[in-house]
Amino acid sequence: MRDLFIKGEDGFTTVGSAVAILLVCALLFMSVRAFQVQSRAGQVQYVADAAALSADNAVAVYVTTGQVVDAMLLSFSLLTLTTYAVSAVAAFIPGAQGVSAKLADAGSRLLGLRNDFAASAEKGLNAAQKALPAICAVRAASCVKANAQTSGLEYAGIAIPLPLEGKEVKLASGEELGNSVEAIAALEDEIAEKSEELQEAERQCEEAQLAGWQADCGPGGMSMRERAGHLAGLSGSDNPAYSSPETWDFSVGLERAKVYYRERYYQEDGAGYDGYPDEVAESIAREKFYGYAWDTVAEGFVTTSSTGKTVPHLEKLARNTDGIRETYLYTEQAYPVSVNDGELRLHAWEGCPGYQEGSAAGYGSCSDAESGWIALCPECEFSVRTLGRVPAASTSIDNGFEYYYRAFVEAGDAYEEAAEREEQLREELEKDREEIVGALKKGLESCSKRYDPQPPGRYGCVSVVIAGSESLQPLPFVQSQDSLPARVAISGATLAADPAGDQGNVITEIGQGFIPPESLGGGLSKTIIGGWGSALQAYANGVSDASDFFHTTLKAIPLVGNDLSEKASKSFEDAIKSTGLKPAKLQTYRPVLVNTSHILERDGSDAAKNLLKMKHLAQAESAAEVGDLKVMADELSLPSEVGDFLSGGELVVATIPLKQYGFGLEDVKVTIKLSPDLQKQLSEAVVQFTKLGG
Ligand SMILES: [Zn+2]
Repeated sequence: MRDLFIKGEDGFTTVGSAVAILLVCALLFMSVRAFQVQSRAGQVQYVADAAALSADNAVAVYVTTGQVVDAMLLSFSLLTLTTYAVSAVAAFIPGAQGVSAKLADAGSRLLGLRNDFAASAEKGLNAAQKALPAICAVRAASCVKANAQTSGLEYAGIAIPLPLEGKEVKLASGEELGNSVEAIAALEDEIAEKSEELQEAERQCEEAQLAGWQADCGPGGMSMRERAGHLAGLSGSDNPAYSSPETWDFSVGLERAKVYYRERYYQEDGAGYDGYPDEVAESIAREKFYGYAWDTVAEGFVTTSSTGKTVPHLEKLARNTDGIRETYLYTEQAYPVSVNDGELRLHAWEGCPGYQEGSAAGYGSCSDAESGWIALCPECEFSVRTLGRVPAASTSIDNGFEYYYRAFVEAGDAYEEAAEREEQLREELEKDREEIVGALKKGLESCSKRYDPQPPGRYGCVSVVIAGSESLQPLPFVQSQDSLPARVAISGATLAADPAGDQGNVITEIGQGFIPPESLGGGLSKTIIGGWGSALQAYANGVSDASDFFHTTLKAIPLVGNDLSEKASKSFEDAIKSTGLKPAKLQTYRPVLVNTSHILERDGSDAAKNLLKMKHLAQAESAAEVGDLKVMADELSLPSEVGDFLSGGELVVATIPLKQYGFGLEDVKVTIKLSPDLQKQLSEAVVQFTKLGG
């Protein structure tokens, strides 16, 4: 010491200098001791921070697992609904009942799978919440232990999630969904039956169209067109030709018949006929009949159906005397009556010699003559039979226009009946379709209920780390400091939103990972579950992915649709879109220390709120006091019922019963990885903490 300070002649050896140096040395050694104490405290704080983050990470895992389960549940609900919707689309396709029934069966198995999954997840998540305090404590303890081993110092620590209890997990019940799909399924048989009937009605229309076309203007042989040309000289636009029934409709034949009878009426000589009285009477009868036929045919008309079909409403013509008796020709008082030798006689016209011989007695009808109070004229012999003879031959023999007109009307009647049935069935099917849209919407609305994880530790995790007292080397100038006192550090971590995270993809990827393709069965089941990825995407992306999924599933099923099934699939897709299924509020959470101001500023109000809650809780539970925290640590336990969910270091959160419902080769389990023997580790952590703290 002396050598150090005596520097010869140029040195400073004054007493003042020596005292100053002495003071500096004393301060120096005291600073060393203070540094030792300070750095020790800093190290404890660091370990407490790490422990809090580690514990809170377990909460983050739970939240993500909850979101994955929720995403899966939604995807299974959507899968169920869309499978039923596709099944309903198939019901609209005649001949596709087999496919429709298979799809409905798959839908019902999916509903079972969804409900069983939900039931298992509800139990599993509740068990996971009960296990969470123990998991947090053990994670914190092992983090502290690892630090202790590295630094060679004696630490003990534990963390507690606040609040200690989670809100009871209640997942959306499948009841509403079940009602919706049941309503859809209940309509399917009826739809399938009506669709078959509709197809038959359409076939009947086609058949009648062909028959009508053939009678009107079919090629090769006689027809209304050919007869009209031959018998009435019709040609050109009065007598058009159609080479196929596709371009032809019943209005063509109707117009042709009108023109034909008009022409026949004007062409007939009637009273001007040059011949015997009975021949004149026959010409008059023809003229009468053509006039009647013109009137009657003209009463026919066509309408347009909702599908653009030209639907005929045609009038039949009397085909013989009996038929004439039912027309106005029978009762019209159009024929001159004479009195000959005191007897009333009916005549075809005033020019009849029999009429001329007698005296005029007004007018009468054929029915008057048939009832017996007017006699027939022996000259012209006009009666209802004269009228009846006009159509009798030409209707029953295939060389008359009436023969083809009659076939045309019969085809028209068949067409009308089938078209009306078609129209009625379409209306009924439309109603069924709308009912399904309603059921689908209700089902989709029931899917919008989401699970919002509220586990223990949702406000944060508080860690407490205790470093035991430590012996120190004696230092000069420093009295009575041969050991460092026990140190305690408290830290808190909470989950903060990470705006940069793409949780949607994270969750769907995790979700998809649970059903590996090789675990799936084959055939239809594979097609459906194969579309599961899109259903999962709907969780993150909402409507667009749900409707895409419907579309994809529909396309995967090999069916040739018709206008009704197209309309059904479009309206079902629209229903999915209009329900406005929104993406889940997806937020990536990560643990952050909450006693650092820049973290609070960065993470905004969410973290601040959580911090406040945690502080309040920490105060309320006197967590700031080590002694009280020890009491809390004593309360940490792993409820025995959690044991049922533990298996090989994993906690089974949910089971996807793929095998049970015939969708896969094995059931799949959704799990959270844990340290093996959680109970033992918890006990050790508590014991260690209590021992050191005491
Ligand atoms: Zn006469």
